[in-house]
Amino acid sequence: MLLTGKIALVTGAARGIGRVAAQVLAAQGADLALADVLPEVEETAARVRARGRRAVAAAFDVADPVQVRAGVAQLRSALGDCDILVNNAGIVANIAPLTKMSFERWQFEIGVNLTGAFNMVQAVIGPMITRGWGRIIVISSGAARGGLHHQCAYAASKAGLLGLVHTVTLEHARHGITCNAILPGLIGTENVQMMPSEIRDFAIANTPARRVGRMEEVAHLIAFLASDHAGYITGAEIDIDGGMRLNTGTLASRKEAQARRGVP
Ligand code: NAD
Repeated sequence: MLLTGKIALVTGAARGIGRVAAQVLAAQGADLALADVLPEVEETAARVRARGRRAVAAAFDVADPVQVRAGVAQLRSALGDCDILVNNAGIVANIAPLTKMSFERWQFEIGVNLTGAFNMVQAVIGPMITRGWGRIIVISSGAARGGLHHQCAYAASKAGLLGLVHTVTLEHARHGITCNAILPGLIGTENVQMMPSEIRDFAIANTPARRVGRMEEVAHLIAFLASDHAGYITGAEIDIDGGMRLNTGTLASRKEAQARRGVP
């Protein structure tokens, strides 16, 4: 097992990639501190406990630094300081062309996806520095590189995460802390399964692997980056996208994509 004796804090753990990551990290021997804005995060904790690992859950909004400090303190008092942070919580809050994206929606998306990561890293990194060991894994997106039609706030938030990852690396690699970004392509989460099939099929047709990714595939990458084996990988941007990034230029310029989203 890769993570015996480690405590991992996963945000956005109520569903999707975060929920599966929690289970894969538990299978690798970690105990889990789980956070989400949804109280259903407790169900993920129950699943982890059913695997024989310790797990505690806290419901809080990562965008709010006051809630983050209180939530992390609650998790810490139940389980101890985390060795591993998986910053996974993220939203798509608006799909609209730049000219129609409201300031409020822009701020909301940046607040959760980017400021939320800053809040979480700041809340957990102190004990990692003291211990001289830590793993921070940030879930960005392929949109960080190529942008996304009608999702400027999402793409900007995910690109901003890369700057955070690079800077944490510059400041804290010397403390035994690695910080890496994972850039998923289209992953078969509950949300993606509910997308209109023509949008999903269009994305699959533009993915060299000709399929969506599995949540377990992302989770196993997270587990590897969290392990001692990955101690010299830091500041990296790791794509897990079936080769989709190689088609970014084609996708980004395609009017068809706009029409399929039904946005003028
Ligand atoms: P999801 O919507 O299924 O899960 C996201 C989780 O984050 C939810 O449980 C949600 O309640 C939680 N969350 C949302 N706002 C929060 C907040 N303010 N505070 C705390 N928790 C909050 O999403 P997913 O598809 O599993 O995505 C997980 C991550 O992977 C996200 O950062 C997403 O941007 C990224 N990603 C996903 C895909 C994909 O294809 N699914 C592709 C690229 C990147």
